[in-house]
Amino acid sequence: MKIVFATHNPHKLEEVQAVLGSAFTLVTPDQLGVTEEIPEDQTTLEGNALQKARYLYRRCGTDCFADDTGLEVEALNGAPGVYSARYAGPEKRSADNIALLLERLHGKANRKARFRTVIALIFHGEEYLFEGKVEGQIIDVLQGSSGFGYDPVFVPDGYTTTFAQMSADQKNAISHRGRAVAALVAFLHDRHADL
Ligand code: IMP
Repeated sequence: MKIVFATHNPHKLEEVQAVLGSAFTLVTPDQLGVTEEIPEDQTTLEGNALQKARYLYRRCGTDCFADDTGLEVEALNGAPGVYSARYAGPEKRSADNIALLLERLHGKANRKARFRTVIALIFHGEEYLFEGKVEGQIIDVLQGSSGFGYDPVFVPDGYTTTFAQMSADQKNAISHRGRAVAALVAFLHDRHADL
């Protein structure tokens, strides 16, 4: 069964396909001729994920899903949240985003943060939302060089290393995206068994 995933990132595609198994084949928007930028200008992760999935569904008319992720920092009232990629500007540079985050947290004792991923699925014309979260702390000094984004300053609860010090497998097993994808996959396998 084919399902469209709203991503241009081959790494994400491969990762989700590996968890999905062979019952579903992931297809990219490009492969269906949707080469334009898919709009995502909502103010919540849910809003963006739904906007992208609905856009794809209108364009392709097939089962599809889209994700959106943000880092939500408690002492910053949930910022950068939906604006995580372009926190320090439209260039979307991780080093600048981290520098701004540490500047805004300077002198604050509360370092609690969470990564949250929302996946919006349109399956047989119905909309579904799935969520994955990981709680942790923001540290002051960057540690590690794996991963991307805010990984070097995020230490998940129960661990002493940052995401950037973990292998991809270690991170995926506990990460926001890993958990959201697991929820999506459980749903799809369930529905597939019923078909
Ligand atoms: P996206 O919705 O997956 O494109 O994520 C939006 C932004 O959130 C990224 O550009 C990163 O800044 C940040 N982000 C998302 N996932 C992660 C992660 O696993 N580690 C670190 N930063 C992330």
